[in-house]
Amino acid sequence: MTKEELVSLYVDGGLSLSGVAKRIGSTTTTVQRNMIRLGIPRRKDGGMSGINNPSWGKPKSQAQKDKISSSLTGRFIGEKSCHWKGGRISRAGYVYVHSPNHPQANASGYVCEHWLVAEKALGHYLPTGAVVHHINGVRSDNGNTNLVICENNSYHRFLHGRLTRLFLDGYCLVKDDCPQFKEEE
Ligand SMILES: [Zn+2]
Repeated sequence: MTKEELVSLYVDGGLSLSGVAKRIGSTTTTVQRNMIRLGIPRRKDGGMSGINNPSWGKPKSQAQKDKISSSLTGRFIGEKSCHWKGGRISRAGYVYVHSPNHPQANASGYVCEHWLVAEKALGHYLPTGAVVHHINGVRSDNGNTNLVICENNSYHRFLHGRLTRLFLDGYCLVKDDCPQFKEEE
């Protein structure tokens, strides 16, 4: 399939990926792969987005833009968000706590709970580059006794080397399963 073919069916013709696939006797996956290869941007199908929206392609006046922007500003952030869960959320197994004034807070004002627990035990902020290791590998288990503060990642690696060794030699019955270490590998 050529770029011209895909552009005329998908972009100009407004067909869906599966529609294009059917038309040229291919599969949706192949069409999608070729679109990426040929640099044809993906449109959000369905609903009123993209070319399905009656105002598609029509320029917005500055007044319209200001109206949209002011109606969105500050609306869905923090406690005002419909997703507000009391300042504690879970992402990829980790627990995050809303602490917007913390130096390590992400763009939404959240910090990993294990990081905060370690700092509380320590009595001050952890230095940049520190790693907090979960002994039992359970990302949400942030009890004091499950956490080990590593001053940097080389100590963290050293710790894992020792743990793996102990397991292989039969001195430790639990296989090392620290989520943070796996993600870095
Ligand atoms: Zn670890």
